[in-house]
Amino acid sequence: MVSIGMKKINSTQHLVNNILRNYSLCNFCIGRLVSKELGLKPSSNLGKKFNSKAEKSELKKCFICKDIFEKLDEVVAHMIENSSSYQFSTFLIGSIIKPSISDNDDTVRSKFKIKGVMNVKTHLNHEIGKKFGRRTKSKLDGMDPELTLKVNFKDNSCKIHSRSLFLYGRYTKVRRNLPQKQDTCKNCQGKGCVSCDYHGLENFNSVEGQIAQFVIKKFKSKQVKINWIGGEDKASLISGNGRPFFLKISEPHIRNVRIKKQDYLDGIKLHDLRQIKSQPKDSVPFRSKVIILVKSELPLEDDLLKKLSLIKNIPLEIHNRGEKIIKKSIYDIKYKKSDSTSLKIFMLIDGGVPIKSFIENSRVKPNISDMLQNRCTCVQFDFKQIDVMSSNWKN
Ligand SMILES: [Zn+2]
Ligand SMILES: [Zn+2]
Repeated sequence: MVSIGMKKINSTQHLVNNILRNYSLCNFCIGRLVSKELGLKPSSNLGKKFNSKAEKSELKKCFICKDIFEKLDEVVAHMIENSSSYQFSTFLIGSIIKPSISDNDDTVRSKFKIKGVMNVKTHLNHEIGKKFGRRTKSKLDGMDPELTLKVNFKDNSCKIHSRSLFLYGRYTKVRRNLPQKQDTCKNCQGKGCVSCDYHGLENFNSVEGQIAQFVIKKFKSKQVKINWIGGEDKASLISGNGRPFFLKISEPHIRNVRIKKQDYLDGIKLHDLRQIKSQPKDSVPFRSKVIILVKSELPLEDDLLKKLSLIKNIPLEIHNRGEKIIKKSIYDIKYKKSDSTSLKIFMLIDGGVPIKSFIENSRVKPNISDMLQNRCTCVQFDFKQIDVMSSNWKN
């Protein structure tokens, strides 16, 4: 306090004496109330210097905080225990206190016209943060903390929220009859409950289930939400570089995970799964190379088949009931007749074209059944290659 003038010290002491004549206060609260005037950080040491009643009476609790600051070691020990299963390097503290504590803080500050000092709750969070950071060797981060701890002084509980992580990866599918999406838990409809162990899935027998199970285990997380780049049939295979996807991990306990370049799961193979900062907000444009097996009702006519290549020059219109017509493109189309009613079609198309509808019905214009003037059925379709067109996510 060398740099602070005697005059200021005297006036501060005078103020503190004045307050203490009316209220019993702890050193933390005194320190906070005089901090702005002296241009120092609030601390109990600062309060102690001005506390004329050197030993606060044991019977009289601090008027403002009811001696809440004395509980801090115990609270921080509890927080350390609760957060010990989490991997983190930054944190933020929040707290819930009795409204009367904030009210009393306001009362004293307004009565003695003390302005610009931290309020009692901020001060409490600040003191907890100092101790917690020192003990866990982690840093306070008000903007984007990995862990947020909310201490409730009303019931002495501590709630922890771990910031979500995002992954990008691709999968190839080597087994047929594996659905892409997983049914949600019947008990909670996907929200997460005790019976599904909070992941919200009914089972893991799908592409989604396999990926979720793998990620939940690696990151010791709760739920995993997958954002697919396109969809496929349960019978479809996916080869080439695989289908890209984005993934959000909720409440991860582990943040730094080493993931192999490739991982074999049941029926699928994961490629280049890695952490990214965030998911793209807009839809990601992509193109797929597809092979479609088509069966026709009547024998296929060569004259009509030859006209299939014309479809490259016209936009494909997808009519969804009640919604806007979506336009897509076909960049390449080839075919091979296996027998009089069987056809193999090879296409390079925009992502988002419903393949089955493109073969079978009028939801897509033009479509194969119309063009071949023949009722056609999509027997099976496989993806040979899927390429993301957006430069941000090219992979
Ligand atoms: Zn106090
Ligand atoms: Zn559930």
